[in-house]
Amino acid sequence: MRRTMQAAICVIVVWFTMFELGGWAVYKGEAAVEATAVELTAAAPAAPITITHTEKQPLLAKPAAYESADDVEIEQAVGKKEPDAQTKPSAIDSKPVVPVTTKPSGKTVYLTFDDGPSQHTEQVLDILKAEGIKATFFMLGEQVEQQPDIARQVLAEGHAIGNHSYNHKYEKLYGSFAVFAEQVMKADDAIFAATGVRTPLFRAPGGTYSNFDQGYFDAMAAAGYIIHDWNVDSGDSKRRGVPSSEIIATVKGSKLADSLNVLLHDGGGHEESVKALPAIIAYYKEKGYSFAPITTAVTPIHFSLAKKLKWSRPAVKESEKAALVLYAEQLGRDRMTLPQPAHTEPNLILHRGEEQLVLSPEEYSLSKGSIKVSLAKLTEWIGGTAELDPDSGVVEAYYNGERIYWLTDFALGGAKGRDEAAIVPVRSTLQKFGLAIENYVYNAERREIWVK
Ligand SMILES: [Zn+2]
Repeated sequence: MRRTMQAAICVIVVWFTMFELGGWAVYKGEAAVEATAVELTAAAPAAPITITHTEKQPLLAKPAAYESADDVEIEQAVGKKEPDAQTKPSAIDSKPVVPVTTKPSGKTVYLTFDDGPSQHTEQVLDILKAEGIKATFFMLGEQVEQQPDIARQVLAEGHAIGNHSYNHKYEKLYGSFAVFAEQVMKADDAIFAATGVRTPLFRAPGGTYSNFDQGYFDAMAAAGYIIHDWNVDSGDSKRRGVPSSEIIATVKGSKLADSLNVLLHDGGGHEESVKALPAIIAYYKEKGYSFAPITTAVTPIHFSLAKKLKWSRPAVKESEKAALVLYAEQLGRDRMTLPQPAHTEPNLILHRGEEQLVLSPEEYSLSKGSIKVSLAKLTEWIGGTAELDPDSGVVEAYYNGERIYWLTDFALGGAKGRDEAAIVPVRSTLQKFGLAIENYVYNAERREIWVK
């Protein structure tokens, strides 16, 4: 039998009565903070509630605004040890800055995708988004010129961008530093033209080993570029069409360390890398790793200098080095004053058995240690129903014999429309439905909750 509720005034009276009686209000800090919401359940002692139900409508699909109530238990469980998700990018020194977050703590994987952007990049982005993780894309200037929209999308979705030369042609790049430097600058300009960002991150085509000599390293450092080799080679480019199974096996067979820089490719012809990606991510998650984009705070991995280079070429001339340094210095001011892309929050992923609910950053919030989501989305995901009565502003959610009522701002006398979606604390709402949070991860890069 459904219990329904009358007009908002009536409910408010009941609500205040319940506070007086004690034991009903789930959100302890709420009354003092903002008296906007209350939960009732069928299991609670019945207060006299008159029933007049009006026309029903599905609840707004997208939360319109977030409540500010506390969920004390989540605060205790989650709030104390998470890194500050809002960490502002900061200039380390007068060098160019990669406009993303600082270095994360704990075991971290830096997934890197080289040679794009290409037609595969969007698939990679979709996977990363679904997994709620950020990565780094070392792009070729030539590719960026052909696919500037994708380059912008990479940045807009919170990933880092690095320079990977203009056209990747080894003989040119490593035949003379003058040509190499020209390609660095040309790619730098192409990335800037497409994205508005000057990246100091650089990955040498083929890696630095037996390609770079000390002169290359010195000149690039003097110009403010930060070179990143890798310590996990997925082997996805050791020949054409390496199958995904082999890529996954190579990654799994690689040595683990607290900080892993994983070489992958999103250039043309790398569909097998895309196929392998979910399993690679799952593997590192299972091993307890977080994922992050490379920032200037990340200690780069450099291969050692080879005793013998693959190339015979003259040493880097002072004039060649000076040209690159001058270019970088002239950009110096621009680099520092460029608009910083907004820090994008990861998705929130709820797990229950095999089922997942993926919520974009707009669809959940964290305030005062309490993770809040749409009551309708949460209820429907666990297999219940939720409906808004637009006339009273009351949201009613039902699952497994338990019922929750939620008063929107409107129900409490506020303006209609702004806050009709009920945004509720995850933990206590699940508890009302007889479910519990088994485990969670909540940090700047990864936000997941396991429900049992
Ligand atoms: Zn490459």
